[in-house]
Parts: sequence; structure tokens; C-alpha cells
Amino acid sequence: MAMRFSILGSGSSGNAALLVTAGARVLVDAGFSARRLGTMLAAIGESLEKVDAVFLTHEHGDHAAGIDGLKKFPHIRIFANQATARAVQSHLEHRPDWQIFETGARFAFRDLIVESFAVPHDAQEPVGFRFTSGHDGDLFAPRRSIAWLTDLGHAPQNIHECIRECEVVVVEANHCPELLKNDPKRPWSLKQRISGRHGHLSNHAAHALLAAVASPRWRRIYLTHLSRDCNSRAAVELAFAGIRGTLTSCEFSVVEPGQSTPFYDLE
Ligand SMILES: [Zn+2]
Ligand SMILES: [Zn+2]
Repeated sequence: MAMRFSILGSGSSGNAALLVTAGARVLVDAGFSARRLGTMLAAIGESLEKVDAVFLTHEHGDHAAGIDGLKKFPHIRIFANQATARAVQSHLEHRPDWQIFETGARFAFRDLIVESFAVPHDAQEPVGFRFTSGHDGDLFAPRRSIAWLTDLGHAPQNIHECIRECEVVVVEANHCPELLKNDPKRPWSLKQRISGRHGHLSNHAAHALLAAVASPRWRRIYLTHLSRDCNSRAAVELAFAGIRGTLTSCEFSVVEPGQSTPFYDLE
């Protein structure tokens, strides 16, 4: 097994995933309380004691709310760029073991190569990630990559390149434009923010991104960060029917709010 991956939860009430390789156990985002993260990890036979690091995409609460409670686990290193670390730190009383990276830089953490890339979203310096382990041509540890791409208003060309050479892509399918438009709870200004260039990808926009890249390398796509009120499994399935028909060797997994996904083993 080259990599194991499980989404612990996804949506506006919290986002976090666990990525396991032979040499590392890392969380991508920590948008639930530490207690909740502990419970979610226990459900898949894992624990915060075994987690080495957290990689933060940005400071919004649904991605970083767990950092405060992680003070009980001082061995966990917190990776973020400077602007995100500063924004999160301003709400904390303790000082985590911050590991600051430059957006766009490529660095190693244990047996993982980590790459971050800027995404357009209304936060200080939001990023997406690509995690790679193994090497091309290595029979025992073949190269495997996973891209994490939530919270972005649109997908510039560089993002197309970031997801092309990955086996697993996590992308947000945040809202159905029709459901968002008709939502009675959200004021017009918030709807503008969500659907704007620095908001969230609609089902249609996420589908357009995947359809434009349509990489034969993909084995699994996770559709995540679904809005509880302004999206539904049915709306997502309808929007992605086209690409599901074309990329028949790739599995699609719709992750609804409140759901977690069992471990996916990437051989
Ligand atoms: Zn979010
Ligand atoms: Zn956000």
C-alpha cells in the first residue's frame, strides 16, 4: 500500500482528512474540535496520538477550528504559510509548533513531497495541496499523488496542471447555482460572496474543471464541501453525469455534510 486516505468530514461545519503513508500520518485541515477529530479517527482505527502533522489550507473556522484543542497533542506539527499561521495564531492562547512554508514551494515531510498552490478564495493566503509519495518506476513504492482542492471561487490554469498527474483528486462541489439563488436564508450579499471569484466552486464550475483536465491517471475523485442548504447529492450527481460517463475507470465519491469516507487504499 502506497497511501491510505480517508475524509473525516467535509462541509461548512468542518473539513478534515487523514493521509497515511509508510512513514507519515497527516491531517489535511482540522476544521473540527480536537475531541471530535479524536472520535472521527477512532472510528477508522486511528488516533491523534499517532498523527504527525496538520497541513492547513486557510484560517477559516471550518478548516482550522481544531488547532486550539490540539494543544493537548504538542507533538503534532502545524504546517501553514505565514499569513494563515498569523491569522490562526491571533485566536489562540498557546503557540503551536508552526512549520511555515512558502506558497508554491515544494518540500519534504518524512516520505511525503508536499506542494502548495494559491487558490482564489476570501481568506489571507489560501492554498490547495498536492501530496506525493514513492517514485516512478519503483515497484515497491510507485509514485502516488493526491490533490486537495476546496474553497476556491474559480480554477485558474495552474490548478489544471496541479490535478492532472494525481491518482486521487478532492475537489469542492459547493453549491447548485439554482438552489443558492432560491435559498431564503442567505442575504443577497452572502450569495454574491459564495458565488463570486473568491468564493466557492459550484457543481457546474467543478465539473467544468474536471472535464477540462479529464486525466487518464485519475482513479478516484471526491466531491466535497457540499452546502447543506444549497446543494444535494442528487444535484451533484446530475451535474457530474457527463464526466462520469466519460471517465469510466475513475470512481466518483460524493461526500455529503456529516459523512466520512472509509479508508481508500492506493496501491
Ligand atoms: Zn471551507
Ligand atoms: Zn474558506
